[in-house]
Amino acid sequence: MKPFITIKELKEKLQNKECTPQEIKQFYLDRIKQYDSELNSIIETFNEDNSPKKDDGILGGIPFVHKDNISMKGKATTSGSNILKKYKATYNSTAINRMSEAGAESLGRANMDEFAMGSTGEFSAYGITKNPWDHSRTPGGSSSGSASAVAAGLVPFSLGSETGGSVRMPAAFCGLVGLYPTFGLHSRNGVIAFTSSNDQVGPLTKTVYDNALVTSALAGKDPMDSTSLQVEPKDYTKKLNGKLPENLTIGIIKDAINNDSIDPEIATAFDESIKQLEKLGAKTKIIEIPHLKDGIAVYFIASRAEAASNLARFDGSLYGNRVEDAAALQEMYTKTRHDGFGVEVKRRIITGNYALSSAHQDDFYEQANHVRSMIRAEFLKAFEEVDLLISPTTPTFPFKLGELIDDPITMYLADYFLVPNCVIGTPALSLPCGYSQKGLPIGLQFLGPRLSEELIYQVAYAFEQSTDHHLRNPKGYE
Ligand code: GLN
Repeated sequence: MKPFITIKELKEKLQNKECTPQEIKQFYLDRIKQYDSELNSIIETFNEDNSPKKDDGILGGIPFVHKDNISMKGKATTSGSNILKKYKATYNSTAINRMSEAGAESLGRANMDEFAMGSTGEFSAYGITKNPWDHSRTPGGSSSGSASAVAAGLVPFSLGSETGGSVRMPAAFCGLVGLYPTFGLHSRNGVIAFTSSNDQVGPLTKTVYDNALVTSALAGKDPMDSTSLQVEPKDYTKKLNGKLPENLTIGIIKDAINNDSIDPEIATAFDESIKQLEKLGAKTKIIEIPHLKDGIAVYFIASRAEAASNLARFDGSLYGNRVEDAAALQEMYTKTRHDGFGVEVKRRIITGNYALSSAHQDDFYEQANHVRSMIRAEFLKAFEEVDLLISPTTPTFPFKLGELIDDPITMYLADYFLVPNCVIGTPALSLPCGYSQKGLPIGLQFLGPRLSEELIYQVAYAFEQSTDHHLRNPKGYE
């Protein structure tokens, strides 16, 4: 078996009886053993056999890893945190169930920023994860391990989760395809909550086709998640014919043009991507979203407020760790939380509680919701004029490890193009659109209106197939 084989190719091999699911699994387990001690992308590799009963689903015989905030029954599910190190999930998340129904087997839990808060993977209680393209750099966060593992070819795909860029940023930094679906397309049941009104599971893959395939298995109404949408399952690979739909108009987000904050090499790759889309037949026009620049501020308040509420349940009484030496209840809560949470999580709980306190609620939370409606209205208006929007996924290349650890503001600003669509729950997909001279991947993202995943995949696939960016792999993993 060759490394970096896609799900599509694996399925063909299985169909032609060129290999068995057991051989495929062993191949990836061997690769994890060989390469992951350097990368630290996987927290735990499962020893026992978890293969689903059936091999005839759309992902039959395909292994993957899942982010450590996605519950798998009987397995530790820690969200990358010390506070949950002793916690084992008592039930399967819907995402794990759907993978299993499709025939896919999880080989392990992927490393992540604690409670999915971060952009570098450095806020994990299990240590940092390295980027296979350059070991001195971050793979991006918070789905750091999910991205690093696929980029190094340790598994053909992974599940990450995204609240404000956590799938797309690592996809861009690791040369992968990553989707943030319409809020509610994928179930949140059994996914440890960070910001319940934005959290979504998203697949990380080498190609657009593979991504569409995993979404076909994940998407659809779940009675266990009341915010999941009433959508019927569908085959998201159906329209992948390499052509753009007729009369497609793509809006270029104005902030992505002539912007000094965007690295020049990323700006060049973005320009070339626009030309490529035009060559494929798309009409393009520049679209202004005046409040896009306020996306980070809205996300900052809303995500901290929800995180503070969601994480209140971790106090030593119900889940995970509990300090032994507390004299009374209040002290047990305080000490458990003090010892259990890392610095970034504490920072967010404090800001979240401040923003929600009765004296400040109107100044922060209400204002943020007001601006959120303005962003939503501007996106809706844009989608009356164009079918999809595009921008670079990130303004910069993967940060050097350690570079931002004491500079959270710069880290938050890197989410400029990632959080606005998350706060309004509309989908976006990042895929490779070039490489720097040093060989670092560059991401391009397509943003669409609610439930436009099929169109996004069709356009992204046509773009991908007309380039060779998806065919490159990091050196040293052959
Ligand atoms: N960079 C974002 C943050 O730190 C990522 C959040 C996410 O999508 N889980 O909040």
